[in-house]
Amino acid sequence: MAQDRPNQRGMTVVTKEGSWTLLPPGPGRCTECGTVHEPELPHNAQSLYYQAAFHMQHGRTATWLDAMEHCSDAMKALWTEKLEELGVKVRGGGVNPS
Ligand SMILES: [Zn+2]
Repeated sequence: MAQDRPNQRGMTVVTKEGSWTLLPPGPGRCTECGTVHEPELPHNAQSLYYQAAFHMQHGRTATWLDAMEHCSDAMKALWTEKLEELGVKVRGGGVNPS
């Protein structure tokens, strides 16, 4: 439980039905998406942690464009090209192949 690990705060959502806390990712993992990746690479838009944390902060589902927001233009172009080759409509807000 969160109280047992006071150094890990996490994010808590309170609804009329109750509340739940999203604990931070473990050591060595990206604090945004919970995946192990280099900082210059996009966050993992397919990560459940990323989607939950993003929705808690922004009130909507994250897209690959959100996951690549911090990347260089060259990195964004490369990832967009490769994801679209795999059938993901990146510019249309897609996350998974359609
Ligand atoms: Zn990440």
